[in-house]
Amino acid sequence: MPKMEERLPHLVEQLDGWIEKSKSLCQHGKVASYIPELAKGNQAALGIHLIDGYGNEAMAGDASTVFTLQSISKVFSLLLALMDHGEQLVFDKVGMEPTGDSFNSMLKLELVQPGIPFNPLINAGAIAISSLITGASQQHKLDRVLDFFRLISGNEQLNYNEAVYQSELQTADLNRSMAYFLKDKGVIEQSVDDVLDVYFHHCSIDATCKDLARMGLLLAYNGYDPIRGKQLVPKRYVQIAKSFMVTCGMYNASGQFAIQAGIPAKSGVSGGILTLIPGAVGIGVIGPALNSKGNSIAGVDLLEKLSQHYDLSIF
Ligand code: GLU
Repeated sequence: MPKMEERLPHLVEQLDGWIEKSKSLCQHGKVASYIPELAKGNQAALGIHLIDGYGNEAMAGDASTVFTLQSISKVFSLLLALMDHGEQLVFDKVGMEPTGDSFNSMLKLELVQPGIPFNPLINAGAIAISSLITGASQQHKLDRVLDFFRLISGNEQLNYNEAVYQSELQTADLNRSMAYFLKDKGVIEQSVDDVLDVYFHHCSIDATCKDLARMGLLLAYNGYDPIRGKQLVPKRYVQIAKSFMVTCGMYNASGQFAIQAGIPAKSGVSGGILTLIPGAVGIGVIGPALNSKGNSIAGVDLLEKLSQHYDLSIF
């Protein structure tokens, strides 16, 4: 397994410089405000944290910023649902194709039959996936979700951000309408409130770039945690998750990101991006100022520049 300095020579000394090159873009982006609590994000922040399989770390900029996972969590709720039920049942509930529409669009739900969400990374798909998380009670489901995120991040301190959870709960009309639609179609079988409770909770887990990097490292090693020496998630499920990251992970800019950076990635509206170099490095980025597609404007620029400089594209 390659060490970070072999795969990314001189990066550690030059990381501050890479941040500086992209940081001025923050002023051209907008912090998400449709969930009011997210508007508190720092428009000017940009940070990155990288970890390799030996536990070597590099960080720069505002890497210690705490932010909520938002859509990044969808990759891991998918993994948990796959581990709970296997592929067949999961893909009875969600498709495998990108939409080309925005993350919260309902357009294709009704237009294209059968009325199941196109993929697990758009909101409708992630809500369907949340309904598959098993547990003896609602609290047990929430505990299982948090335990899973703590396990894969190696961070026992991870927790739900109650203020963001409440803020999202109170401004969720669009997500709620999707959930009711899915219930009508039989995709969701439980109460809409309980399913959304799981969904909003996993979106509102607080994390830092280091947590994203650790989770990215697990994906980079196909579910094996090289630091603890343990297979935590079956390889096949991680391959499924990474395929979705390439085709749908950066909203309806996933094709552009695949061409410009060419690494599996998942972004969230809080400005986080989780990405990885296969078999080598996990990477977490934060930059709350978003571009028009909902991705961190400076974070995308930073990753594109790093990928082009170090020839990271998997294609
Ligand atoms: N919790 C957010 C929502 O449902 C997630 C969106 C995102 O990060 O793309 O709107």
